[in-house]
Amino acid sequence: MICDNKDLCGGCQYMGVPYPKQLADKKRYIESFFPGLPVKSVVGMDDPYHYRCKVQAAVRQGAGGRLLYGNYAEKSHRLIPTPDCLINDAQINHLTADVIRLAERFKIPAFNEKTGEGILRHVLVRKGYATGQLMLVLVTGEGMFPGRNNFQKELRKQHPEITTIVQNFNGKFGSMVLGPRSNTLYGRGFIEDRIGGKTFSISAESFYQVNPPQAEKLYRYAIQKAVGTKGKNKTLLDAYCGTGTIGILASSYFNHVLGVELNSHAVSDARYNAKRNKAENCTFVCSDAGRYLMDLPAEQVPDVVITDPPRSGCSSEFLQALVHSSPRTIVYISCGPDTQARDCTVLTEAGYQIQTIQPFDLFPFTRHVECVALLVRQYETAKTFVNVSLDMDEYRKIKDGFPIT
Ligand code: SAH
Repeated sequence: MICDNKDLCGGCQYMGVPYPKQLADKKRYIESFFPGLPVKSVVGMDDPYHYRCKVQAAVRQGAGGRLLYGNYAEKSHRLIPTPDCLINDAQINHLTADVIRLAERFKIPAFNEKTGEGILRHVLVRKGYATGQLMLVLVTGEGMFPGRNNFQKELRKQHPEITTIVQNFNGKFGSMVLGPRSNTLYGRGFIEDRIGGKTFSISAESFYQVNPPQAEKLYRYAIQKAVGTKGKNKTLLDAYCGTGTIGILASSYFNHVLGVELNSHAVSDARYNAKRNKAENCTFVCSDAGRYLMDLPAEQVPDVVITDPPRSGCSSEFLQALVHSSPRTIVYISCGPDTQARDCTVLTEAGYQIQTIQPFDLFPFTRHVECVALLVRQYETAKTFVNVSLDMDEYRKIKDGFPIT
């Protein structure tokens, strides 16, 4: 299968490249950030198509009342129509197309990024991989959405399988898809998915991996490394925990799990998820991860840390506090190998050794790859102070120099 838009759309840099070669290239890519360290083969998918369970289509005004929708061209806001995107879940492609056709029928204008006028800005659909539940998020400007009620009723008539419909308001300039305010138009405002035998509820604003079956393999691996071979562990810190997926899945191996996350919607989801899954030993806190770890009382300092920061990596405060709390094991999960390598250098200088590096392909056909590094403390107590200078230049050079086939 080949996508007609492969040279236009900024989504898939590897479209047309055989899947085994994609995996081999991604392994070399990770190796370039961890020179001299053994990087394991990338864990791939059996069927690498139609895996995205979360799709956000940008909407633009076309001629004659038509609405255009799709992805952006690389590093731009130029819209490339992608109705049959090969990496999106097929049901999501279908639903998105129908939402757009209905919006045209209701004469709903696209939001204009330059003037701030108009209504429909993005159509975001999320699907529970295991449950099939569907969430539609209509991202609009701040203005009135005339006929909103009839619109959602008509849509539900056409697609009774929709679980919930949310309107999110985003009138700001810039590239953020979601604004800070949402309003549930139908259903409960969240969907559920199942991973590793646990059920997770996910609201519109919370992070949740777009490729759940691959995420499950990654979580399993990360938790196995976190638990290690010794007896029952005491405390796990799940840093940058999102909806609590990792901490809750790991909770039966630890006496206590602490989760920290900045997004308040995700923290509410995590607390609800802990209750729902009877993971009573989990505590979730809404805070900056660095601030939280810095202020943690000595008796609560974790023995094991799993950290899963955004692409920008861990903050210097977090790394400083991490080194200071000196957990026995750190499992570092990342979708940004450049920042991961940078942060791992800080940790190795502080007395940790990288024992394994295992990449997982959560994003076939794109250049992205997720990677788990296991770091183990080499000394009885790690250095309590380390110069945390997060200078990216060195790492950027490697990244930019890497050829993508
Ligand atoms: N471990 C989770 C989420 C990983 S994504 C999962 O697998 O689902 C990274 C998360 O870090 C996001 O939920 C984001 O909201 C959160 N985050 C970003 N900056 C943060 C900060 N400074 N402190 C704590 N959490 C932060």
